[in-house]
Amino acid sequence: MYDIIIIGGGPAGLTAAVYARRAEKTALVLEALAAGGQIIKTPLIENYPAAPAISGVDFAEKLLRQAKDLGAEIVYEKAVDIKDGKTFTVVTPKNEYSAKAVIIATGSESRKLGLENEDELIGRGVSYCATCDGGFFRKKTVAVVGGGNTALEDALYLSEVAEKVYLIHRREGFRADETSVARLRAKGNVEFVLNSRVTKLVAEKRLQSIEITDNGGAVRDIPVNGLFVAVGRVPENRNFAKLIKLDEAGYAVAAENCHTERAGVFVAGDNRQKEVRQLVTAAADGAVAATEAVKYINSL
Ligand SMILES: Cc1cc2nc3c(=O)[nH]c(=O)nc-3n(C[C@H](O)[C@H](O)[C@H](O)COP(=O)(O)OP(=O)(O)OC[C@H]3O[C@@H](n4cnc5c(N)ncnc54)[C@H](O)[C@@H]3O)c2cc1C
Repeated sequence: MYDIIIIGGGPAGLTAAVYARRAEKTALVLEALAAGGQIIKTPLIENYPAAPAISGVDFAEKLLRQAKDLGAEIVYEKAVDIKDGKTFTVVTPKNEYSAKAVIIATGSESRKLGLENEDELIGRGVSYCATCDGGFFRKKTVAVVGGGNTALEDALYLSEVAEKVYLIHRREGFRADETSVARLRAKGNVEFVLNSRVTKLVAEKRLQSIEITDNGGAVRDIPVNGLFVAVGRVPENRNFAKLIKLDEAGYAVAAENCHTERAGVFVAGDNRQKEVRQLVTAAADGAVAATEAVKYINSL
């Protein structure tokens, strides 16, 4: 029996582990993929206090080391359920782990386009991370789909690597800031395909072209080697929906104190309903959730 099980080893979960251990509570972190969460996808973080320029991977490694050195246990398994009782049992495909309190810090994952063969083409032309996979498309033709800052930054990054970049956006205007749009427009190898959607992925083993349908209904094919999808993120709360309240977009409903309606269950980080989803707010949530979990355990 652990004092606290933390589901998710991103910045929120690992910070929670640091705070839990410093309060001398046993802490197990369950991580489905790679410790560090989303931030390992970025080459450079420039807005974390007192760390003006650090790579995402270095940031993740330092935080993981800090949590481990303090005695947090990290197990690479995905939590698929939480059984509610006098204590809590977190279920993974391999094991069951019990704890007095649980912190759900599962963050968010990339939103998909929802096209028929999209899943099968991941790693075979379809990607959700330009900085991770862009290098595979050196001197090739790629498309980026999306209209926010991430899509524009991805297109800018890829314009330095690929021979040609199409930026596909379903509207005329962008949600991204004007500076990024202007920088991208100045690039000679970027073509804007506006008022259009990707409606089909054409592939034989690998992606070969994308079908584009414009808002007037005209359809055309664009041959590409890669498609980078940057159409937002979805919170990873589905497995816990019967225990915690979610809003319409799937975010966990919890105030700044990270309490859910179920005593002993807390949420921290990007999967929580909040205004700003960044490292600094994820870390802050981790600190608050662990502190509240410790108070809860001490009151039992
Ligand atoms: C490309 C990119 C660049 C970014 N750059 C910056 C930046 O420069 N500055 C900044 O402040 N923010 C940046 N962010 C945002 C920042 O990364 C997030 O706000 C932050 O990582 C959120 O932390 P988190 O711990 O809440 O969630 P996440 O980082 O999403 O971590 C959640 C973790 O939980 C795991 N998980 C999910 N479900 C389960 C489950 N069922 N069982 C076990 N584990 C599970 C996931 O695998 C993941 O490791 C960037 C994000 C991206 C995608």
